[in-house]
Amino acid sequence: MEGLPGLWRARGRDALLIGGGETAARKLRFLLRAGARVRVFPTGEALHDEVSAAIDTGAAVRVDRPVCAADGAEALLAIVAVEDEIAARAAIAVLKAARVPVNAVDRPEACDFLFPAVVDRGPVVIGISTGGAAPVLARRVRAAVESVLPARLGRLAEVAAGLRGAVKAMIPDDPGCRRFWEAFFDGPAADVLAGEEGRAREAALKLLNGPAAQAPAHGRVVIVGAGPGDPDLLTLKALQAMQRADVVLHDSLIGPQILDYVRRDAERIAVGKRKGAHSLTQDTINALMARHAAAGRVVVRLKGGDPFVFGRGGEEKAFLEARGVPVEIVPGVTAAVGAGAVAGIPLTHREDAQSVTFATGWFKGGAPDLDWSALARPGQTLAVYMGVGTAGVIAERLIAHGAPADRPAAVVEKATLPDQRVLIGRLDGLARLIAERQVAGPALLIVGDVVRRADAARLAETAPQAVARSA
Ligand code: SAH
Repeated sequence: MEGLPGLWRARGRDALLIGGGETAARKLRFLLRAGARVRVFPTGEALHDEVSAAIDTGAAVRVDRPVCAADGAEALLAIVAVEDEIAARAAIAVLKAARVPVNAVDRPEACDFLFPAVVDRGPVVIGISTGGAAPVLARRVRAAVESVLPARLGRLAEVAAGLRGAVKAMIPDDPGCRRFWEAFFDGPAADVLAGEEGRAREAALKLLNGPAAQAPAHGRVVIVGAGPGDPDLLTLKALQAMQRADVVLHDSLIGPQILDYVRRDAERIAVGKRKGAHSLTQDTINALMARHAAAGRVVVRLKGGDPFVFGRGGEEKAFLEARGVPVEIVPGVTAAVGAGAVAGIPLTHREDAQSVTFATGWFKGGAPDLDWSALARPGQTLAVYMGVGTAGVIAERLIAHGAPADRPAAVVEKATLPDQRVLIGRLDGLARLIAERQVAGPALLIVGDVVRRADAARLAETAPQAVARSA
């Protein structure tokens, strides 16, 4: 993180503004909006109209001498916005010696703090900073944020603030309060945003006095598919569940990029397999979920891809329901679908594949118990999960049951993650491709004529003899 975000409580506090020109005027506007008592040190600069107007109305105080250490004693912060190099340096030196936090316009090296681009909606303030790297980008982000936030958001925060005392008094425990607010923002908030505040308040009080707010919290488990890795592929429902969780049990394949979206105060428990590290047994995971739910918590069980595709979601659901724990399933983008997308390989195609099979490549000894002759037939796509270690056996079986040795095949490693790789070859070369290119996984195998339709760039990376482009 480039800096520590915070919010200056500037209302009624002294802020020193060095300079009186146009840049100073811009900063002055900002300071006044935040309620600061501004002392302007023009330092020889001609005053911008806005600055002199603020001085004339008494909103700011003019000081006609260079800033000195004593000025810093009471000051919350100082902004150096004077064009003249020598005057700026002198002011910065004095302020630093007086230990006043300084923001110096266009002098990043002298700044103790930076001003972000700001979205201001009443009490809701959003600052966007690139740490000085790209202010134009920050402004773009601001424009994007502005465009999705309702104009009455500030009003919503004020209405919520008005209810705070009553909610605290009626619902003593923290999780209960949080649940009330979630229900509030799901329901009555819409009325506030529509300008119907009376109705919103009425609905909120009904909610507050209703059985749901008073009853002890009911625990439940939400089994959430987190998709193949790219957080942008989380569903809105997944995000909502992650933001409302009290406890999150996640597989270790779930990357930090995704865990960043979990509510910050939620307890996180890594339960999955990781190379070299201990993983909890399925029984332990089940028991953990049941215990947290019984204690009234909202448990999110976060899984890679989709929970019902090689994810044991079905087993967990059955276990919990047998114990009376309510379970909800949130689907996710499964690895095969993510891998197909990033490789540009359509899993079905009117000409090449009338069906697609998701199969597991994992098995104990011998070979996976699959219907090899059915899978060997043309006109279909085979997507193999957990098949990196067994690709050789899988290819052998398929070929033994009639699949052509040169049937196109792809390995998509870490699909949708920044270090993803797409390797393309043919069925009889799959194991060698995996060994030579040191595929460590997680990776998905895709076998079928559709592989020929992979993005041209991917095919170009591949040895020319590997895939015949025409059948
Ligand atoms: N429930 C998951 C699958 C879990 S099984 C889903 O729906 O995707 C684990 C296997 O999924 C891995 O061995 C690998 O074959 C595949 N997999 C998971 N994430 C992947 C990714 N980002 N890229 C390629 N394969 C992935």
